[in-house]
Amino acid sequence: MSAAPIVQTGAPILRSRAEDVPLSRIVTPEFQALIQTMVETMREAPGVGLAAPQIGIPWRLIVLEDRADLVTKLSSGEQKERERTPFSTRVVVNPTMKIRGDEKATFFEGCLSVNGFVGMVDRYREVEVTGLDEHGEAQSFHAVGWPARIFQHEIDHLDGTLYIDRMLTRSFATAEQSQALFAGKSIAEIRELLNV
Ligand code: ZN
Repeated sequence: MSAAPIVQTGAPILRSRAEDVPLSRIVTPEFQALIQTMVETMREAPGVGLAAPQIGIPWRLIVLEDRADLVTKLSSGEQKERERTPFSTRVVVNPTMKIRGDEKATFFEGCLSVNGFVGMVDRYREVEVTGLDEHGEAQSFHAVGWPARIFQHEIDHLDGTLYIDRMLTRSFATAEQSQALFAGKSIAEIRELLNV
């Protein structure tokens, strides 16, 4: 088992609606192998989420995981402002999402399919996600803060939407520039610098 190549923006599959996965398919060895490939691809990148279309598979399947070694690259102030805490691997087949409340948060995010860039995106702070797990059993998640952002980003992929469709366009930057200019700054300071 090994990581798969990640499809980059411009590819039509990233702009198409992915299909529902039939329940009977979830338990097949092929689908289980696909889940493993997705988890390994996400970890190797490294990223905090991956949607099946990003490795060229047109199904409604996402994997997510935020590891402590990624989270601790941020200062404790940045972790707190983003409400970012580590969580273990989640596999969600045919996810559906409901927004909870109308609070939003704005932060930089990137995408493994828009390699090397970041942009600031408004996302809902709190969502409820239901779907099937890797065994085809029903599951649901209540996500607040950064995990809610990851869910919104990954589920967008299943509908052919990329963060660049939603970002504050003036904030679009290479990951290097954003690191050099904004690391350690609060989002309010960054917004002032960017005039967004
Ligand atoms: Zn993405």
